[in-house]
Amino acid sequence: MTPDNPLKAAYDHATRFITDVAQRHVGSRVERAELFNSLGGPLPAGAMDPAEVINHLAIAANPGIVSTIGPRYFGFVTGGAVPVTVAADWLVSSWDQNACLYVTSPAASVMEDIVSGWIVELLGLPATAGVGFVTGCHMANFTCLAAARHEVLHRAGWNVETQGLQRAPRVRVLAGGEVHVSAVGALRYLGFGSDELELVPVDGQGRMKAEALRAQLGDGGGPIIVCAQAGNVSTGASDPIAEIVEMAHARGAWVHVDGAFGLWAAAVPELRPLVRGIETADSWATDAHKWLNVPYDSGLAIVADTAPLRAAMGMKASYLQRGDDEERIGMDWAPESSRRARVVPLYALLRALGRDGIANLVRGNCALARRIAARLSAEPGVTILNEVVLNQVLVRFRNDELTKDVIARIQAEGTCWAGGAFWQGQQAMRIAVSNWSTTEADIDRSADAMLACYRAAAATAAS
Ligand SMILES: *Cc1c(COP(=O)(O)O)cnc(C)c1O
Repeated sequence: MTPDNPLKAAYDHATRFITDVAQRHVGSRVERAELFNSLGGPLPAGAMDPAEVINHLAIAANPGIVSTIGPRYFGFVTGGAVPVTVAADWLVSSWDQNACLYVTSPAASVMEDIVSGWIVELLGLPATAGVGFVTGCHMANFTCLAAARHEVLHRAGWNVETQGLQRAPRVRVLAGGEVHVSAVGALRYLGFGSDELELVPVDGQGRMKAEALRAQLGDGGGPIIVCAQAGNVSTGASDPIAEIVEMAHARGAWVHVDGAFGLWAAAVPELRPLVRGIETADSWATDAHKWLNVPYDSGLAIVADTAPLRAAMGMKASYLQRGDDEERIGMDWAPESSRRARVVPLYALLRALGRDGIANLVRGNCALARRIAARLSAEPGVTILNEVVLNQVLVRFRNDELTKDVIARIQAEGTCWAGGAFWQGQQAMRIAVSNWSTTEADIDRSADAMLACYRAAAATAAS
């Protein structure tokens, strides 16, 4: 047995999966019990050949693997994984660096600095801004909002890191009525209960109404955090960021933007007006593992002024060796100590695609979203509920019941996959186009399959 045997086995299985993914049934129809049968059994008492472990694992897990990296998966906002980023991810595991300190991985530390600069430039954010590399946008929301909490309380003469929250001045938190659940979760971890959130009414696309925010802000004093959103999970619409920041800053508030996928509009010149004023906010949470198509475990917590973020996250201990101040200490930027060198796949993507390649990825997906919306809405009884401004399409097939039936049929049929959502009182099907490998032919094939499911469902309902 040589140490590279399991690696060769994994290489073979992984490359075969990636090569064949477009031909698979997009969903998974495996029974849970079947997976327990193939993967489970008693705790092994002794050894198994490592290559055998990989072979067994790849074959046994296969029916339970969803083809989310394929070109016709439109569920949630998933993205895929550009092959160069998968390859880079293999290196991350091979090196098994701990990106918590500079001394534990100078390469990871320096790549975090480099990618931080590239991302800030790509998104057109202030040159002072810096990036913390976290697991996903949920934790990016948490990290940014921890910085916000630090700063608004600091301005009120309170150090929340040492004095805690229990006797602190009250912090008001305002967010649009369509605030993403992960921002609410992040606020909860930070001591702000969901009932304490002051929700601001939204319009038919889910955008915060700026004038309603102005009225709710009022003119009293005290610490305030405003959570805005770039890219609603259902419609893709963004809050009026410029107006929000202007009125919030006039009140001394911190403005955080949850832009898990929508923030990338800022990297495309003709889409940037959708997030006008984005560069004036104080913090931005986004994902690389969604629209940038790097493997999971890639969220970005971006702050215009990095001091509050490091004040909120940083920790010191005598054995955690620090060098000079120039050296990035990864754990000062994220709510973790030991952490993988998750910056590496994103570094590889930025090298492989460059600024133009990333803009093309985003704009190409938006064009495909408009294409599938046009194909579907040409059918009598099919309505597109949102303005397709980005990569999200909300489809309704006549009524709630039929829409649910069509979604179930599409998921079972397997050409493509889309999920459901309830949008402002109506059942809808959500299509998110966010994969680098999706082509016009994939869109047309998917639209045909969806319409065939719709016709079959409508015929059943009528009979
Ligand atoms: C997906 C999403 C999140 C959460 O991101 P994760 O990467 O799943 O942690 C937050 N906000 C919005 C708008 C999202 O779409």
